[in-house]
Amino acid sequence: ISIPAYQSHVAVTPFPFGTHAPPLLSLTTALASLAPSSHFSFLCTNSSLASLPSPSIANLSFVPISDGLTGVTGPTNIVVEIGLFLKSSEKSLIEGLKAAELAAGCKVSCVMSDAFLAMACNVTREIGAKWVPVWTGGPQALSAHLHTDLIREIVGVGDEAMKAYGDKSIDFVPCLSHYRASDLQEGIIVGDLQSPFSTMLHQMAHRLPNSAAIVLNTFQGLDSTADSFFTQKFTNYFPAGPFHLLNSTGTEPLTDPYDCLPWLDQHEPSTVVYISLGTVVAIPPSELASLANGLATSGASFIWSLNEKTQSLLPPGFIDKINKTGQGKVVPWVPQISVLGHTAVGVFVSHCGWNSVMESIAAGVPILCRPFFGDQLVNARAISHIWKFGIALDEVIFTEQGVVRALEVLLKGEEGREMRDKVRQLKDMVNIALTQQGSSRDNLKRLMNIVCGC
Ligand code: UDP
Repeated sequence: ISIPAYQSHVAVTPFPFGTHAPPLLSLTTALASLAPSSHFSFLCTNSSLASLPSPSIANLSFVPISDGLTGVTGPTNIVVEIGLFLKSSEKSLIEGLKAAELAAGCKVSCVMSDAFLAMACNVTREIGAKWVPVWTGGPQALSAHLHTDLIREIVGVGDEAMKAYGDKSIDFVPCLSHYRASDLQEGIIVGDLQSPFSTMLHQMAHRLPNSAAIVLNTFQGLDSTADSFFTQKFTNYFPAGPFHLLNSTGTEPLTDPYDCLPWLDQHEPSTVVYISLGTVVAIPPSELASLANGLATSGASFIWSLNEKTQSLLPPGFIDKINKTGQGKVVPWVPQISVLGHTAVGVFVSHCGWNSVMESIAAGVPILCRPFFGDQLVNARAISHIWKFGIALDEVIFTEQGVVRALEVLLKGEEGREMRDKVRQLKDMVNIALTQQGSSRDNLKRLMNIVCGC
């Protein structure tokens, strides 16, 4: 490899499932714009690349890597696909790095990987490059992973341990003292602790302190206890989010194929309910019906992002009725960031995936939380009990009356007004963090010096 046309070459590799790749691409785009003399190669599976926007920046290129599915016949599901991807991920990364070096004509000096892909720690050591993991979830979920051994030692593992300890707080870990054992993601106390996914996360917790820097999609001050813990645990801790706001143009395709934004224009401020349970959750049919009936009974205007397959499971006549009355819109996809940012939206009914949480905070919209699995539970707990800009359902799951009650509180009650004030204070913090002198911008520049420095 000769021609050092670029000062340095940074390879970036996302975890290609759920909504992990888009925030990492936003961060990469921001870094590439800040550092035009460095080249950035985004190494990603073809299926993940297909769902991403492709920002046209001269020093950013996309390099496809294997998904580990070659030769696999018959039906698979996401769990199987994650297992196969992980099995071959080290080899795929090494091959991807070679392809990226050949294409850019410049050796890779830093690998910025999704923190999940902790095998990048070994790969970078072997090629003499820096490793900068990016945690795309919330700070509390990362704290839980970093304390897995201690939690297992004190709480134990398995369903019996959870039964005995579930409601108690994790008070022996300062940054988790407001969370209960039952809020923690599967793979720490319960679930298949030996699965490739759990093993990967356990290894990650041990390897992260060896990184040159760790980056989080959050902003300084959202969780100050976690900020202190990470500052002391890592050589360089950079909360540089929300990533989706780092680029002036943004990387979200701003298309609005179902005309949600003009529809919102016809509504009064803070009156519309926006519902999305993310891209992975499969809502049980009984809850789907309860949510639909709850929305109809509440009388509130709403926009519901729901894929076509799930739409076919809605109660018969539901879509016709709401179309006729004009109460709501059920569409397969919305430009969520723009929808949340519209003044008409007053409540977000969410599964509490971390991107949705960041986007709701940045837009100043309170959340009605219905977490399903993984870090959604701990995120929901933070929203309802720590940051207090949202509520959980009394019955935990969607029931018709529960939905009606919760929407009444959030849209019309005094408590809802207080939550709106709280989330708007957080939105102000986001805006300050993103000013030129703000903490997220400053962290982005410090990160750039580390990833682009040779
Ligand atoms: N999203 C969107 N339009 C939709 C549904 C979802 O733009 O109709 C985006 C949303 O803005 C967020 C992401 O999909 O960035 C969902 O990510 P999150 O981490 O909340 O959940 P996941 O999909 O990983 O469960």
